[in-house]
Amino acid sequence: MSSEKIERRLIITIDGPAGAGKTTVSRTLAARLGYRYVDTGALYRAVALAALRADLQADDDDGLERLCRGLTLAFASAEDGSARLLSDGKDVSDQLRSPQVTRMASAVSARPPVRRGLLRLQRELGRDGGAVFEGRDMGTVVFPGADVKFFLDASPRTRALRRFAEVQARTGQSLAEIETAIRQRDANDRTRALAPLRPAEDAIPVDSTDLTIDEVVDQMLTHVSLKMRQTRG
Ligand code: C5P
Repeated sequence: MSSEKIERRLIITIDGPAGAGKTTVSRTLAARLGYRYVDTGALYRAVALAALRADLQADDDDGLERLCRGLTLAFASAEDGSARLLSDGKDVSDQLRSPQVTRMASAVSARPPVRRGLLRLQRELGRDGGAVFEGRDMGTVVFPGADVKFFLDASPRTRALRRFAEVQARTGQSLAEIETAIRQRDANDRTRALAPLRPAEDAIPVDSTDLTIDEVVDQMLTHVSLKMRQTRG
């Protein structure tokens, strides 16, 4: 038998507010480690899209419960390796980023049946480890025992400017509109009763305001390598 221990594949969580750079950082970190990247915001957005299509109100808990029970969400890889989200077997990835879906996702994500339904799915996706989970409550609620937890933040102005650069061409929103929407979404996420946005006690805080993506990822990799050495014993 080999004396080398098999490397355990970790669960890494990255939480933080909108526009802090979570998506790019999580995707890059996962690629550098050969891990899977899971964008949990896309799951909330897919529920929001389905709710809009079913003409549900954001606070209709009975309707949302039925919707979540009947909805099958799954990630798949496109030929170019990018992650796609399948909702009842249909690729909805290109419909998840409109301002309307974004607002609805923020609203339905506060509702108990939605959080309950997605909790199960997210834990299932993390069962085999080897994944970077990006979201708002990954380190606090979904994976409280995660191996390495990060809380990625940046100043509100920086976050609005980044989001502006990303969505302006697609949505035509002004910087002021984007800043207002981000502040509103953050306030919703931070003040909701269920799984509010906050750092886990054992999360490593990272402020990306004055850092490049590579600098953030390098900082994170240092922490992850340390953890890998510790778990190898
Ligand atoms: O990350 P993203 O902006 O795509 O997430 C969309 C919305 O889904 C957020 O505004 C937040 O309200 C919600 N969300 C959440 N918990 C997560 C991920 C996203 O409540 N783990």
